[in-house]
Amino acid sequence: MESEILYNFSYTLVKSFEEAKDRNDLLENFSKALRLFFTIDELKIYMMDEYSFLLKDFTKPWENLAHSEENLKIKKQFDNFLIQKSTYEIDENTLYFPICQKNKTLGIVKLKSCEKINPKNNFFEILPLVIAQISMLTATLKNKEMIKISSKFHQTVRNIAKITETQYELDYILPIMGEMIDQFISEHLIYIFIKNKNKKEYKLIWPKNCSDNKIYEYLEEITPKSQTIIKQDGKMGIFPLIVDSKAYGAIVAYNHFDKITKKEIEYLEEIKQQAQITLSRAKSYVEVLEYATLDALTGYNNRHQFEKRLKETTAAAKRQNQPLCCIMSDIDFFKKVNDTYGHAVGDCVLKTIAKTIKKELREEDIASRYGGEEFIFLLPHTKLDEAIIVAERLRKQVEKKKINIEEYNIKDVKEISVTISIGVSEYNKNDKDPHILYQKADEALYKAKETGRNKVVIYD
Ligand code: GH3
Ligand code: MG
Ligand code: MG
Repeated sequence: MESEILYNFSYTLVKSFEEAKDRNDLLENFSKALRLFFTIDELKIYMMDEYSFLLKDFTKPWENLAHSEENLKIKKQFDNFLIQKSTYEIDENTLYFPICQKNKTLGIVKLKSCEKINPKNNFFEILPLVIAQISMLTATLKNKEMIKISSKFHQTVRNIAKITETQYELDYILPIMGEMIDQFISEHLIYIFIKNKNKKEYKLIWPKNCSDNKIYEYLEEITPKSQTIIKQDGKMGIFPLIVDSKAYGAIVAYNHFDKITKKEIEYLEEIKQQAQITLSRAKSYVEVLEYATLDALTGYNNRHQFEKRLKETTAAAKRQNQPLCCIMSDIDFFKKVNDTYGHAVGDCVLKTIAKTIKKELREEDIASRYGGEEFIFLLPHTKLDEAIIVAERLRKQVEKKKINIEEYNIKDVKEISVTISIGVSEYNKNDKDPHILYQKADEALYKAKETGRNKVVIYD
């Protein structure tokens, strides 16, 4: 009899475990198996966190338990199991039993039934085996998670190393890096600060806001010899970025509730090492590229060269009394492309769009990559109404373009498409500063974004 119950229970549990994708699934399957014995109203597992020594809800390990009478009861019961006072506890409709491995109490299961728990229930005959099985399954799931995190970690480090293959402007590299780290360490707020060269103070680069002014004080402690600095009772880790023997900036990880774990510190230290290498490489690229003219990914003029060409073309337009227009484009929701398919696909999209647009331009038009996914085009000898037609054509061609991403082996996706928003402006000979031309296009582009995207807006 006993063995048959056990068989049913084990079979249900193990079978469904194979299909369990995450902690919620596991709990759900566990509940299914326990329903062979009880009518279940609520089932919860709490595990002792090995870093903070606090009990945590198994399905929400990032959260601390609230201070409630119910949670206090769970803690007290867990302590009883810890000193092995009993192997289970019944409190009217509620049953508690421990999760143990090698005689160590790791957690507690709380099962609330719809009716009073009967101590004569068959379940109690097999309880030690149930405990052994559940502890094994939770441990296996945790291992699976660790392997997943570790592979995500290596992917992150690799991605950070690869950024400079396509990007060298620090303004663009740093936020991309911030995003990558943020996605990896999702339980903490990630900040990136860079030291301002002249003023010597730290400036936030990623994300857009940081309301914690204390961080700025801590950053002042960084010297070129600094190792990781831990603050706020272990909840904040400051990872100084030392580039070419100078304090260059810092990656900061902060969680308001939880200490940062030893493992996370290890991960972030390695990520920081890679970030330092990438930054150092980018810096020397920039130095070399002062002399280069073309952007490596798109073959367009780089920003440095754009500045030069802008001065030349505006001067020529003025001198020859000829019209000149500027078109600025930005890919819509490009971040989503990166987030969904990865940066390599993002790069492929950039390259393809650049090529698609180039085909639509005349020989004398000047195409530049202004940064990231923003392109800028100077159209000499072109009046505003003509430029609008060109812009509309670019927009349509991009919208139509099917970008082949087969080589990236994304499940069920062979091609994707994107749209662009465009701002158009015309050169005014009375403008003293040539930059006004593209600032106007930029303003119009902003309006295009604000009013729905995938459209052309003319500066007025
Ligand atoms: P929208 O412009 O429509 O407002 O949305 P968006 O998602 O395009 O917005 P945003 O300008 O904030 O994001 C641009 C993203 O482009 C952020 C950055 O990760 C990504 N990016 C910039 N340069 C590159 C690059 O060279 N390669 C890849 N793959 N991504 C890049
Ligand atoms: Mg964009
Ligand atoms: Mg943009």
